[in-house]
Amino acid sequence: MPHIAIAGAGIAGLASAILLTRQGQQVTVFEQVADPTPVGAGLLLQPSGQMMLQNLGLLDLVRDKAAIVHSLEGYSGSWKTLDLHYSAVQQEWHGLGIHRAQLHSILWNCACESGVNIQLGNGIVDFAQDQQQVVVKHQHGESLADGLIIANGTRSQLRDRLAIKRIHKPYPWGAYWAVLDRDDWPFPHILMQRYRGAHIMLGILPTGINPSTNKTCYSLFWSLPKSSFADYQTAGMPGLIERIRAVWPEVAEWLASASSDTSIAIAEYADVRLATYHQQNVVVLGDAAHAMSPQLGQGANMALIDATILAQCLMPTSDFDKRDHLASAAVDNSYCPNIAQAFAQYSHRRSKHIAYYQMASRIMTPLYQSRYSLGWLRDVGTVVGRHLPAVYRQYMLTLCGAKQGTWDLRAEIADL
Ligand SMILES: Cc1cc2nc3c(=O)[nH]c(=O)nc-3n(C[C@H](O)[C@H](O)[C@H](O)COP(=O)(O)OP(=O)(O)OC[C@H]3O[C@@H](n4cnc5c(N)ncnc54)[C@H](O)[C@@H]3O)c2cc1C
Repeated sequence: MPHIAIAGAGIAGLASAILLTRQGQQVTVFEQVADPTPVGAGLLLQPSGQMMLQNLGLLDLVRDKAAIVHSLEGYSGSWKTLDLHYSAVQQEWHGLGIHRAQLHSILWNCACESGVNIQLGNGIVDFAQDQQQVVVKHQHGESLADGLIIANGTRSQLRDRLAIKRIHKPYPWGAYWAVLDRDDWPFPHILMQRYRGAHIMLGILPTGINPSTNKTCYSLFWSLPKSSFADYQTAGMPGLIERIRAVWPEVAEWLASASSDTSIAIAEYADVRLATYHQQNVVVLGDAAHAMSPQLGQGANMALIDATILAQCLMPTSDFDKRDHLASAAVDNSYCPNIAQAFAQYSHRRSKHIAYYQMASRIMTPLYQSRYSLGWLRDVGTVVGRHLPAVYRQYMLTLCGAKQGTWDLRAEIADL
């Protein structure tokens, strides 16, 4: 039975651990922090990520804690520019807005119930591999593994030990975020955004149940350049409220009346690109492999897709069509896959999808977060595009996480 070590108990690491354990593999997750509950706000699970959660048997649990998001709307002043409806692609499709900590806790509980060995406060500090095995060096010593999955997030230094051509470029922009409770917000199923050019963006995402208060909550995102982080910190909450008031007064009032323990913090992003995702018996997943700006709302979805496809690649051929087994019991475990071949197959299968979303993210992000005068181009493009059914469908397929390339015009999530 192969032994797989995983660096990181985030979304990619936990989802991989659950699927591989169910396949009968011996899995150890090494997590550097003692309490891995992620800080942060809401994220939007697209139909692609939802399908991966269905494979894991967790979609219903997630839906119970999430908000159903039917559409995304964006306004430049009073002009409605962005107007994307999931049902335009498939009637029953929608997004799910969920708090990062809720998603993490559902995966965490499932991993524990599946018998995954998780070692908290025991991060991987280094590794060495030969043709057969990987020596994993962690905070408490060394272990031997047949394969190593690096899933330790954007700032991974383990990734940097692989001889793979890579780019790690921090974005010049980040965002202030806050999680705000409210029962009577008028847009419980819409991700609303307001823009001023490309340099101001305020978003309110329905986020389901707040894990700290058990109340219905929303995530506020306020885009800001890194160069103004210090100014914002000096101005504090009153300064932020005043800036928001000029764009959306109701949100400023809401923030002003929020309880004093409302967490508000700055998030930074980076663009990570790898020429390939594996080297022999080591593979890189999730943000460690392809972090991008949150503009397209794909990060958590991509991490779940990575985990699902990796598990399929590590499945013996005879079990490949038994994908439903991923959702429940363990499959026949009397095999030993060739890990290096499986990881190579993974890199091959993921390359197109990841490349498309990285390209789309690089094109889109400056239209929403930059000092260039690109706001008008974005607004005209989105308004014209939404009146052209073929273009609108491509926008939506991109948002849903289904596209495998620019010319993949008949994209289907099932083709992932
Ligand atoms: C503000 C914000 C908004 C976002 N919005 C969206 C959205 O709308 N939709 C979406 O899909 N995604 C969104 N994302 C992105 C999404 O949260 C990430 O893409 C996703 O969490 C990536 O999961 P991961 O498992 O790859 O990495 P992480 O979740 O970063 O997990 C990495 C784990 O590895 C651990 N670790 C680090 N180093 C080591 C080590 N050496 N050894 C062992 N463990 C280690 C860390 O402690 C952590 O637990 C957003 C992110 C942010 C910050």
